[in-house]
Amino acid sequence: MRSNLPAYELISTTSLNDGLELLAREPEVWKPFAGGTDLMVLLESGKLPHKNYLNIWNLKELRGIEVTDADVTMGALTTYTDVQANAVLREEFPMLCQAARETGGLAIQNRGTLGGNIVNASPAADSPPALLAYDAELELVSTSGSRSVPYQGFHTGYKSMLIQPQELLTRIRLPRPREERKGLQHYYRKVGTRKAQAISKVCFAASARMSGAQLVDLRIALGSVAPIPIRCVATESVLRNQRLDRATIEKGKQALAKEIAPIDDIRSTRDYRLQVALNLLEDFLYRLERQGV
Ligand SMILES: Cc1cc2nc3c(=O)[nH]c(=O)nc-3n(C[C@H](O)[C@H](O)[C@H](O)COP(=O)(O)OP(=O)(O)OC[C@H]3O[C@@H](n4cnc5c(N)ncnc54)[C@H](O)[C@@H]3O)c2cc1C
Repeated sequence: MRSNLPAYELISTTSLNDGLELLAREPEVWKPFAGGTDLMVLLESGKLPHKNYLNIWNLKELRGIEVTDADVTMGALTTYTDVQANAVLREEFPMLCQAARETGGLAIQNRGTLGGNIVNASPAADSPPALLAYDAELELVSTSGSRSVPYQGFHTGYKSMLIQPQELLTRIRLPRPREERKGLQHYYRKVGTRKAQAISKVCFAASARMSGAQLVDLRIALGSVAPIPIRCVATESVLRNQRLDRATIEKGKQALAKEIAPIDDIRSTRDYRLQVALNLLEDFLYRLERQGV
C-alpha cells in the first residue's frame, strides 16, 4: 500500500465529441480511463506512466450490445457482466462468455471492460483469444472520423498496436455465424495457478465443425504463448479440411509447436506453456472427433 499517491489529473466527460477533441488537442498527454481495473493496479504500485486521464466511463456511445442479422456489436465499455448477461452472446459466442466468467472476481467483472482488456494489450489477457477466434473487428474513432480494423493484426508487438493516441476504441463487432457454420463446436480453456482469480499461463480458444470425418471451419487462437495474443493460422492450415485421425493430430501439434513462442517468466516456464498448449490442441481435436467438445 502506498501512503502517498502522486498527483494525477482525471477529467470526466459525458460527450464523445468533447472527449475526442481533448485527445486530438493534446495527443500523448491524455489517456482514456475506462473501468480503471488495470490502471489502478499501476497507480497503486507507483508505475502509472501518465499523469492525465480522460474518464470515458460515462460515454453512452461506448455502451450497449446491438444485435442485427449480420453481427453483434458491443460498445467498448461492455463489462464482463454485460457479456455474460447477453443471450445471443451466450448462444453464439460461448467462448467469449466463458472468458468473461473466468476473468477476475465479480467486482472486476462488473467494472472491467472489453475495450480496456484489448487496449491494455496484455499477452495473458483472457478475452483476446476468443475475440480472435470469432474474427472480431474493432471500430476506432477520432475527430477525423472512424475506421474499422480486423482484430487480427491489431496488436503489432508487445504492448504496441494500431490505435493512435487521439483515437478511442468505440466498438467491437463479431460477425454472427452464417447458417452453414451453425453446428460449430467451441473449446475454451484458461490454465492458471488456480481455478479462479488467476492470470493465465496459457489461454486456448478454438472452434471447428466436422463434415463427415473432415475438419472444417477451424479457428485456433492462444494467449500467453507469444508477445501478443495470436491466431494460429499456420496450424489451422495444416489441419483444415483434413481427415481427423491420429496422424493429423500429430501434424497439428508439430505445426503449433513451431508457431508459438512461449517464454519463461514469473508465472510459468516456456516448456510448461508449450506442453500445455499442445495438450489443449490434442484434447480439442480428440473431443471434436468424438463430437463432444
Ligand atoms: C484483481 C484483478 C483481476 C484481474 N483478472 C483478470 C483476468 O482474469 N483476466 C484478464 O484478462 N484480465 C484480468 N484483469 C485485468 C483487467 O481487469 C482487464 O484487463 C480489464 O478488462 C481492463 O478493463 P478496464 O476498463 O478496467 O481498463 P482500464 O484500466 O480503464 O484501461 C486499460 C488500458 O486500456 C486503455 N483503454 C481503456 N478503454 C479504452 C478505449 N475505449 N479506447 C482506448 N483505450 C482504452 C486505457 O488507456 C489503459 O491503457 C484483472 C485485474 C485485476 C485488478
